[in-house]
Amino acid sequence: MATRVACIGECMMELSERPDGSLLRGYGGDTLNTALYLARLGVAVDYVTALGDDPWSEEMLAAWAAEGVGTAQVRRLPGRMPGLYIIRTDDKGERSFHYWRDSAAARDLFSGPGAAETRAALADYDLVYASGISLSLYGEAGRGALAETCRAVQARGGRVAFDTNYRPRGWPDKAKAQSAFRDAMAAADLIFASSEDLEWLYGPEGEEEVLRHHGRCEIVLKGSGSPPSVRVLAGSDDVTVPASPVAAVVDTTAAGDSFAAAYMAARLAGRPPAAAAACGHRLAGAVIGHRGAVIPRSAMPDLPLATEQGRP
Ligand code: ADP
Repeated sequence: MATRVACIGECMMELSERPDGSLLRGYGGDTLNTALYLARLGVAVDYVTALGDDPWSEEMLAAWAAEGVGTAQVRRLPGRMPGLYIIRTDDKGERSFHYWRDSAAARDLFSGPGAAETRAALADYDLVYASGISLSLYGEAGRGALAETCRAVQARGGRVAFDTNYRPRGWPDKAKAQSAFRDAMAAADLIFASSEDLEWLYGPEGEEEVLRHHGRCEIVLKGSGSPPSVRVLAGSDDVTVPASPVAAVVDTTAAGDSFAAAYMAARLAGRPPAAAAACGHRLAGAVIGHRGAVIPRSAMPDLPLATEQGRP
């Protein structure tokens, strides 16, 4: 049976304000981007979230299904709505993000009606992926329920991946984020960390927070720089894999999300960590060469995911 992956999080309605004040509608979310790219790479993936029973929730579901993302674990909460944000671009081209998300359906995934069913279903997946943004949605009790669910996944032989996407505005204070990230890293089997996120969150010694897990789990530490390198630590291996320069960086939205998708797809196909990182760079390199989070299908690079003669 194909490996089943669950990506947990929130997709929001996105409105981009144009110079004349009109709004262009889209939708977006970090873990959704990862799910979408996993599906494009042939991985059996479900997006796990909650939506409302409004027309936009319907549209999102249809769009995800059209991309091959499984929607069986999307809970529908009657009377609720997805979160929403507006992207405003000032006259210097600088973008700012403005959110209406406190009452978003996705925040009740681990606490509202039906949470027990979601948790039971999640325990059956082979790989469960969540990000720091996912963690910021749930509050203390919901995060506790998610942590318990991850332990159930691992008890059944599944794995848990965590991506340190840190957005300060999602957290009531930094201390809460610091402790939630520490717990999530300590519980993960695979960590995608960006040195920038770790520094914002923990200060100059931030990388130590993830490197202390070397040996216990697989770590992909994304550096800054242009083009950036990633350091992959798995077992006793510690290798640095540089990205190839990208001729024109157009928009870095979803760079990390797509990197994680290609890395996981390659690992699930049996490729070793350094080869998986090269796949991550290839896909992320294509994504940043296009506007928006989701590139045209025709621009998807042909990644060497299969192992030679099927052997890792
Ligand atoms: P995010 O901030 O979304 O986490 P990162 O900045 O960590 O994204 O970049 C993720 C990946 O995107 C990098 O590991 C690399 O593969 C690719 N990438 C980002 N910026 C560049 C660049 N300037 N040149 C080439 N690749 C890049």
